[in-house]
Amino acid sequence: MTPELSVVVPMYNEEEVLPLFVDRLRPVLDDLDIAYEVVAVDDGSADQTPVLLQKFLRLWPQLRVVRLRANSGHQAAISAGLAAARGQWVATIDADLQDPPETLAAMLATGREQHADVVYGVRTDRSTDSAFKRTTARGFYKLMQVIGGDDLRMDAGDFRLMSRATVDAVNALPEHHRVLRLVIPTLGFPEAEVGYKRDHRAAGDSKYPLSKMLKLTLDSITGFSHAPLRLATWFGIGGFVVAFAMLIYAIGVKISGDPLSGWTSTVVIVAGFAALQLLCLGILGEYVGRIYTTQQARPTYYVAYDSLMATQTAPDLQ
Ligand code: UDP
Ligand code: MG
Repeated sequence: MTPELSVVVPMYNEEEVLPLFVDRLRPVLDDLDIAYEVVAVDDGSADQTPVLLQKFLRLWPQLRVVRLRANSGHQAAISAGLAAARGQWVATIDADLQDPPETLAAMLATGREQHADVVYGVRTDRSTDSAFKRTTARGFYKLMQVIGGDDLRMDAGDFRLMSRATVDAVNALPEHHRVLRLVIPTLGFPEAEVGYKRDHRAAGDSKYPLSKMLKLTLDSITGFSHAPLRLATWFGIGGFVVAFAMLIYAIGVKISGDPLSGWTSTVVIVAGFAALQLLCLGILGEYVGRIYTTQQARPTYYVAYDSLMATQTAPDLQ
């Protein structure tokens, strides 16, 4: 039987918080009165997390455990969970109780009522995050809006609910290193949001050190645009113009006066080849960029409605 709701929980070394998390999540899901499953993705934990999960597995029939062989990171763990989830709706939530499980009920209600395929949990209050986290997060979202356009919602992290169609679309993307919060808005599904207050981590320490934050930022920039590659093109074109001007200048000097012997030919050779190389690099960059976006294989358009397809409902017309 397919569950109505799957809850995907990535966890890495969460032995301290796990019992608290289970205690809080279970009553919320039981109260929903629907068939559900919890997909706990153990992201290669090295502490007691797998042992505890085995224990909970016996006590909680709706729990499912997927263990990754090595620590692969938050985004990869969520992706593994999305691939395993069978529900009509799939939610993702952190294990540290920063995302309140109670909000899941509101998300599900919003998704159903507003016919939204994606319901974002949006942090209305981040006062519980450290000043450092808030500043870096703000910088991250601003940068991503500049690079990726305004699709991205400020302060929407990975606490969200998705319809089966959305999850299938995400799973079908061949892209590696994908940053889900950036990719999902590009899929073009109807969206809604539910505000929530981000709590303190209930126990244990953050599993997101600066190195992982930097990796996320790098994945976001390179995954979302080939702006850095485009930079090579502009350098190439700029360099070509400069080198070409030098070439003309050197020839001009040769014609009008009498430079040091050998100077003109040296400048012509150096400048000419530099210009050619930079231009070729730029051209290569453009092709690499195209190969990259093709390989990412994000759809270029989405058909929301086709009058021949009886299964779809017509959009509301004014
Ligand atoms: N996490 C994971 N793999 C990692 C790092 C983190 O699965 O390599 C999980 C972690 O267990 C938690 C969620 O991702 O459920 C968010 O991590 P954390 O709370 O440490 O990040 P923060 O809230 O400090 O940004
Ligand atoms: Mg956290």
